[in-house]
Amino acid sequence: MRIIFIGPPGAGKGTQAKVVSEKFNIPHISTGDILRQAIKNNTPMGMEAKAYVEKGGLVPDDVMNKIVVLRLQEPDCKNGFILDGYPRTEQQALNLDEALCQQNKEIEFVLDFETSKEVIIKRLSGRRICKNCQGVYHIKNMPSKKEGICDKCGGQLYQRPDDNEKTIENRLKVYAQATEPLIDYYRKQNKLVEVNGDLDADALFEILNKIFGQKRK
Ligand code: AMP
Repeated sequence: MRIIFIGPPGAGKGTQAKVVSEKFNIPHISTGDILRQAIKNNTPMGMEAKAYVEKGGLVPDDVMNKIVVLRLQEPDCKNGFILDGYPRTEQQALNLDEALCQQNKEIEFVLDFETSKEVIIKRLSGRRICKNCQGVYHIKNMPSKKEGICDKCGGQLYQRPDDNEKTIENRLKVYAQATEPLIDYYRKQNKLVEVNGDLDADALFEILNKIFGQKRK
């Protein structure tokens, strides 16, 4: 299954992608995670991306397209993948379609996580991430068993520097301008499935499980 998750920051895409990835055994490709790793390791790509990520702006399309095209050529993507955070612009969507077309493949599902601003702000301000495995927690909705420590790997939890009020506002603006038009792009291709991103993680996973489970039969 080749899947895209579209939705504003805080819609729960990463949380759902992790469980769907485990259940259906397809890789979760988060371009945000790839960039944060590159920034942490001070790679040339990370150094180029840093200023954009810190301000909540978009890293240039050519950089993102290269990252994703290379990642999709890895053997673990043979049976499908979940793209979380890509494409974010029309140019990225066109590039992805073209890259897949060259392999006689196409995207099968685009899930649009419709989420209210109120829920987004609450989720992002309480979100905590594991430094080691990128596991996602929330101080109220999904706390780790031991404060500040990842349940799965014992890594330290941290708050993403771009999860502050000012940067969140900018990320939402950028989403509305550059990414939201993609919903129509995929609706026209008959690939769009709208889901309610306001639901809690378990309720939403039940819905996704049905959508993807049916496809497997
Ligand atoms: P995310 O973890 O998906 O919220 O992404 C964090 C940040 O990484 C975004 O605010 C952007 O600065 C950058 N980023 C991630 N994916 C993309 C993309 N497809 N295009 C441009 N910038 C991206």
